[in-house]
Amino acid sequence: MPQTRSLICAVITEETIPAARLAIQQAGRVADIIELRLDYLRDFDFTSPENLRTLIENNSLPVIITCRALSEGGRQHVPEQMRLRLLIEGARLWANYCDIEAASYEQAARLAPDTSRLIVSYHNFSETPDDLDKVYDRLAALPAEIIKIVTKANDVADTLAHFRLLDRAHGEGRKLIALSMGQPGLLTRLLGPARGSHLTYGSLGPGRESAAGQPRCEELRGLYRVQDISPETSITAIIGSPIGHSASPAMHNRAFAALGLNFVYLPIEVNDPASFFARFARNESREIDWKLRGFSVTIPHKSAVMALLDGIDATARRVGAANTVVVEDGKLVGYNTDIAGAIEPLSKVCEIAQESCGVIGAGGAARAVVCGLLDRHARVTVFARDLNRACALGDSFGVPVRPIESLSESDVTVLINATPVGMRGYAEGASPVARAALGNRRVAYDLVYNPIETRFLREAREEGCQTISGIEMLTWQAALQFQLWTGREAPVDLMRAAAIEACLTQAR
Ligand code: NAP
Repeated sequence: MPQTRSLICAVITEETIPAARLAIQQAGRVADIIELRLDYLRDFDFTSPENLRTLIENNSLPVIITCRALSEGGRQHVPEQMRLRLLIEGARLWANYCDIEAASYEQAARLAPDTSRLIVSYHNFSETPDDLDKVYDRLAALPAEIIKIVTKANDVADTLAHFRLLDRAHGEGRKLIALSMGQPGLLTRLLGPARGSHLTYGSLGPGRESAAGQPRCEELRGLYRVQDISPETSITAIIGSPIGHSASPAMHNRAFAALGLNFVYLPIEVNDPASFFARFARNESREIDWKLRGFSVTIPHKSAVMALLDGIDATARRVGAANTVVVEDGKLVGYNTDIAGAIEPLSKVCEIAQESCGVIGAGGAARAVVCGLLDRHARVTVFARDLNRACALGDSFGVPVRPIESLSESDVTVLINATPVGMRGYAEGASPVARAALGNRRVAYDLVYNPIETRFLREAREEGCQTISGIEMLTWQAALQFQLWTGREAPVDLMRAAAIEACLTQAR
């Protein structure tokens, strides 16, 4: 029968023996087992299995040795016979397991391997084939201790085949490692352990991954607590594309852990929200059995999800966008916490109803802010570079729209940047307004949160304005989501600290 606790496996992808030794020591602190990728080593002598001794001897963790063939993603050519002998003899003498590709199985079998130390693997680097069950059948027919099936996920729906295989292997009492590579496949790496995958792979740091989409061991253990996830765990998530740099998993998972809640928050790259709703979310059609409690919706799906919801709260309906879905009695109900999340920090520094507010930009974030400001009875003017496009926003809320250049003559007391100008990776270091337009304002608020202090905020601070970073909106919209899903008050300070840490980590 499969072991009850799935393992975190640290991949060792160093290019030299001394670096690999150090990495193996490091892995001892964050993983349960290691996979030593011999094909990455440039200074290793592949001719004798005895050479593994100095690498593996006295290591505290069990070791899988792998020396991938070039055709299966290996880093260098090692003559086939030498490669297979190294793995099979190496597993007999020093390592706990060797990983041999199914394509090489026949040749490996001639070397009489100890099958209790054998992992037989299949890799597909371009897709997840429809007939994954046949692949499983083929591998299951080969005597080995563990079956491993790794494919590329081009869509999150590709992960479903792996979850089905894990159920099947569990029913048959087989040890299986099943996962998909790439950002859309991350779900298999995070949920695989709870669904019986023998192990899940993690890297020891950025740039040290052996496959696309591989998280760090520290994230698997500390952030996602993958070994604590069970069928009883309430699932929350964020859907969007791209999703890789979202700070939301850090905020929510940290908050769940602090309050001792059996919840997890998963980043899911979704390109087709209708397919996600049907196959993962909707009670009557979903293909995965999980306790979905709700999810965040981010760029570019906040408007598209409106047509997919069973219910929509009044605020989300008013702005025509939902950033939050809550599963209520099996129904998918949409909310918009961006609005209250944007207004909350501002309400702490001024009497909004007394202010004249200028919102720069006319996209989704601007809509949320304008809506929130009007609810608080502020006077609002929108400043945009393209007046034709901005008129739609102006008309739907009945607010004036002016060109950005006219800001310097306006009397607005609160200035809010709702454009991406100044954001990391988009006009970073730029400001949406000339510094001269910042004097005499009371508050400058940037919805951009990375960097934490943008040029717009720095110049406003230097001009004597009170400033608010986009980190505040990010934190408050998440805190309100947290309350909707858990019914508990959110630990706001802790969530803010997690968001700042996530942004600073990305900036490094
Ligand atoms: P969006 O829907 O794409 O809208 C962007 C707006 O900015 C559009 O009106 C666009 O004008 C304008 N714009 C883009 N580049 C510009 C430039 N160089 N000069 C002047 N205007 C420019 O984006 P969004 O969803 O509203 O997001 C806007 C920003 O808010 C992003 O940086 C996002 O990260 C941030 N945000 C933060 C939070 C938070 O929690 N802190 C939440 C949501 C959004 P055109 O129509 O002319 O292109």
